[in-house]
Amino acid sequence: MKDKILLSPPHMTGEEEAMVAETIASNWIAPLGPQVDAFERELANMVWKKGGAAMSSGTAAIHLALKLVNVRPGDLVFCSSLTFVASANPVLYEKAIPVFIDSEPDTWNMSPVALEKALMEAKRQGALPKAVIVVNLYGQSAKMAELAELCDAYRVPMIEDAAESLGSSYQGRPSGSFGKFGIYSFNGNKIITTSGGGMLVSDDLDALERARFLASQARDQAAHYEHSQIGYNYRMSNVLAAIGRVQLASLHEKVQARRAIFERYSNAFRSIPGLTMMPQLAGTRSNRWLTTFTLAPSTGSSSEVLAQLNAANIEARPVWKPLHLQPLFRDAAFFSHDDTRSPISEGLFATGICLPSGSSLTHEQQLRVIRTIRHAVAPKRSVL
Ligand SMILES: *Cc1c(COP(=O)(O)O)cnc(C)c1O
Repeated sequence: MKDKILLSPPHMTGEEEAMVAETIASNWIAPLGPQVDAFERELANMVWKKGGAAMSSGTAAIHLALKLVNVRPGDLVFCSSLTFVASANPVLYEKAIPVFIDSEPDTWNMSPVALEKALMEAKRQGALPKAVIVVNLYGQSAKMAELAELCDAYRVPMIEDAAESLGSSYQGRPSGSFGKFGIYSFNGNKIITTSGGGMLVSDDLDALERARFLASQARDQAAHYEHSQIGYNYRMSNVLAAIGRVQLASLHEKVQARRAIFERYSNAFRSIPGLTMMPQLAGTRSNRWLTTFTLAPSTGSSSEVLAQLNAANIEARPVWKPLHLQPLFRDAAFFSHDDTRSPISEGLFATGICLPSGSSLTHEQQLRVIRTIRHAVAPKRSVL
């Protein structure tokens, strides 16, 4: 059996060990510390925000963003449907009510048309959402101008889930910098990793201070540990922040590598009719976190292609199952992009495939993936 080719494994630069050793020598083995402070500053600078608050995960960062915009039990929160469950789980932590918004075909992200319908309906019912969580899928920026205009018009804060899009840009501005809050993830499969971790960014430094307070058990000023609010243990370890700083310094190369991988796949598949690469919206630059494409039914079924990849020891995945189809969110409302056809997110889920895209993927490994796909979609000779 050939080596397993992974979807998006961690990619260490080689300099992390020395940085970790240095941190251990300093005995800052705790959440918080100088590495955390530096990591927050460096990341915030890179994405043009005034500050950042490092967290134990991207999910924790989303949770605190919801707390900071004052989401309460029974409040509505709008969220992209085509995403990982972590985008919406924090809505449930607060006993708020998620409403899912369909994708549009140009970016696969939140449809401004569907968002407007949802906002109009919410207004009509006299209960606007407390927040809109906009996801930038697989590195592709959502239609930020249109979405931000709608959020502004209805005065609803936007939380940008940029867990997958660190290093991407929209009209020259860094992905994750558009909302009242932006969040990033440094989980092991993301473009840079601290093994696990996340970051909340904003221009509102007071809100970030409050995030740090909530993330460290909401401890009031008093020697005897006084508490008047619910707190969390969400802060990032100083040791992991050391890894994050080295990883962040290599972000540019990692984006280049993933974009080159996308280009090679794209060139290799050009001659396959019915195979369509994930589009890139004009004026945006994707980090191409995962190379993703859809297959027309006439070319092949995505589950069959996935089965063949799996048999060849290649890790590939379907596109995220839309959250409005998940049993967990069975009762949630959903707004479709175009009511005259089936939801865009459902079509992408039925036909989409994510390919191995790690920045350490070798040419040889990539060729193996390409050959397996070519073979899987080759027209079958008819047996008469
Ligand atoms: C990975 C991911 C998250 C969650 O990040 P964690 O650090 O794993 O908690 C949230 N949203 C999206 C879209 C993600 O891909």
